[in-house]
Amino acid sequence: MDLTQLEKIFLDKPPFYLKEARRAVFGNLIDDWKQATTMPSELRGKLNKQCPLDISARISVSKDGTAKTLITLDDGLKIESVLMRYSGRNTVCVSSQAGCPLGCLFCATGKLGFKRNLTTEEIVEQVLFFARFLKKENQRVNNIVFMGMGEPFLNYDNVMAAIKILNDQKQGMAIGARHISVSTIGIIEGIEKFIDEPLQVNLAISLHAPNNKLRSQIVPANKKYPIEKILVCVKKYISKTGRKVMFEYIMIKEMNDSPTQARQLASLIKSLKTKLCMVNLISYNPSLAVRESRQATGIFEPSPQETIKNFKNILQKQGIETTQRFRFGQDIEGACGQLAAK
Ligand code: SF4
Repeated sequence: MDLTQLEKIFLDKPPFYLKEARRAVFGNLIDDWKQATTMPSELRGKLNKQCPLDISARISVSKDGTAKTLITLDDGLKIESVLMRYSGRNTVCVSSQAGCPLGCLFCATGKLGFKRNLTTEEIVEQVLFFARFLKKENQRVNNIVFMGMGEPFLNYDNVMAAIKILNDQKQGMAIGARHISVSTIGIIEGIEKFIDEPLQVNLAISLHAPNNKLRSQIVPANKKYPIEKILVCVKKYISKTGRKVMFEYIMIKEMNDSPTQARQLASLIKSLKTKLCMVNLISYNPSLAVRESRQATGIFEPSPQETIKNFKNILQKQGIETTQRFRFGQDIEGACGQLAAK
């Protein structure tokens, strides 16, 4: 779908037509212009030729109901997105880049290297695909998280333009800003810009380690964006927006999951002197791509559930709100850190 092309087609028509077309695509979720019955049939034919609505995608569904889609972009590159279904809520995890330049050690996407940034339309299409899928069951997309392939703040403008379309109540997908979250590894320039955005979109920081030495080992971008710089920025974000920040922490066995590391993490969070922070513990998901690439250097393993429970207790005893993310779609490699566009 090419939104610029769509606008061009409607240039010589009253503005009402373009609004109607956008409502049909994002509100009524049509997948063929023939379904836009309020438009003249000649125009619908032209739209189908010059601005087709089909999305080239394959879907696989996990035992737990999680669905993963592999979308082939116009230039042949492939990206993945995931639909997680839990407690009657449907959350789409979207990708912002094809591949990723940051190479975090636990992440399958990082092993692919960087191909290119996704366009605004390519980001929106991932949500549109699942919205059409859910429509067949009379359900809708409730939440969106930018935690798929890529670092969203390295594709800032397209991610924000996509969020505006997803959030637009009249001509977009009408998903509330508070139901949209952007997760960053800590790109300071991105967080700085994000602070000034008028939308109430949530911010999550992928921290994964409680000190710079360890974090630089598993998140190489930490050398440029160390923990103390990120925390200064987060503090600024909270004082300016009054919104909560979530710190994501992937639990890797005997790497970052000891009681001492839990206490270190608690001190970091407490140093922010606010209740507007929380920690989300994520069980590490081994993926084939990571296993293959780490054969020479040792293989990461998920922390045992008991270890995660202890870690969580330590944080909670120090007064830190802590949740544990459920594993979604592990059997289809659709869980956190497993997306590799296979
Ligand atoms: S975890 Fe995120 S930032 Fe790190 S390599 Fe994977 S996609 Fe990139």
